[in-house]
Amino acid sequence: MHMLTLERVPIQSKPIITNHNMIDNMNNVLCPVCGLPTEHQIDGRCRDCFLKTITLASIPLVIRTILCPVCGAVKKGKHWEDRNIEIEDLMQGVIEQALKIDPQARDVTTSIALTNSNPAIYRAHITVTAHIKGVKAESRLNTEVRISKENCDACSRMAGGYYEAVVQIRAEGRFPERHEQQQMLELVDEVVERQYQRGDRFAFITNTQELPEGTDVYLGSNSTARQACRMAGEQFGCSYSESPSLVGKKDGKDIYRITYSLRLPRLVPGDIIKAGEDAVLVNRSAKMTTGIYLESGLEFSQHTDRLKDAHKVADVNEAENAIVVLVEQDTVQVMHPFTFKQVTIKKPAYFKGTGGEDVRVILMEDTIFILPP
Ligand SMILES: [Zn+2]
Ligand SMILES: [Zn+2]
Repeated sequence: MHMLTLERVPIQSKPIITNHNMIDNMNNVLCPVCGLPTEHQIDGRCRDCFLKTITLASIPLVIRTILCPVCGAVKKGKHWEDRNIEIEDLMQGVIEQALKIDPQARDVTTSIALTNSNPAIYRAHITVTAHIKGVKAESRLNTEVRISKENCDACSRMAGGYYEAVVQIRAEGRFPERHEQQQMLELVDEVVERQYQRGDRFAFITNTQELPEGTDVYLGSNSTARQACRMAGEQFGCSYSESPSLVGKKDGKDIYRITYSLRLPRLVPGDIIKAGEDAVLVNRSAKMTTGIYLESGLEFSQHTDRLKDAHKVADVNEAENAIVVLVEQDTVQVMHPFTFKQVTIKKPAYFKGTGGEDVRVILMEDTIFILPP
């Protein structure tokens, strides 16, 4: 519509309308702001005058964001968050957060075109379209995101050798075997990885130290250290105790470092113990110790706590080869591997031989035990 003649007509002179016909035909009223005829008014004015009263969207000209150059974490306020997304997606998110949109806007669509000529600066062209009170509105904005670098809390702690807890891998009443220590280290690694994925940013290993009596693992997170000890308890029957030591103060609060003494069970599979009068081959030892009575071949099971006096008397690795001479209903005759005398023993439940076969035996005091196959 080109109705330039009406453009400067003051509101008071509304009655002086020169083009009666057109206004009547279109069934229009006049906008009180600009004086142009309008089909319907929004907030008491025409569409164009209404759009002038609103700001659909606004954004600061410069947005700043801080990233850790080591791990890529992003700083949100005072806190750091891990970043599992591409940098462009992060920039989109940062821009969307900085964008202010009129709360009356409906059906909002935002498109952001990013360009970066320099890894530290992303320029964005933003187009926002929406409906406000039924009027379609569009807004085009420009901004730039400037990225600065700062080492995050976790990376600076890791670099500084910081630790909250030490897990001492030990064994009850003995030195842990190398493969057992390896198993424990793998378990700690798994727990660290899982806790990190779950958002514990200090779930990392600062240092490991091998000692004659075991391995010490230094961890950035106390809760991860405790979790690792719990898992070691569930999976390997380890026990643990914790002792805090005061290492200083921060913001008026005492800071403790916790030492976990993690102990592998005293008995390991393959140990032969004397439980009372009976020789038992240990299969597993955690809260319960299970195994086999070597004389009868029956299954053994006992609370480990009640086996404090049951000492290791032999080991399956000490087994010798022997020949079975004769098998009867309840007895077996075995040739002693050193004296070559025939020794008669009770037939263990697991022995299925008929005579003449080679077996592995354990020699103890004056008797012989045939090991399970
Ligand atoms: Zn108007
Ligand atoms: Zn970092």
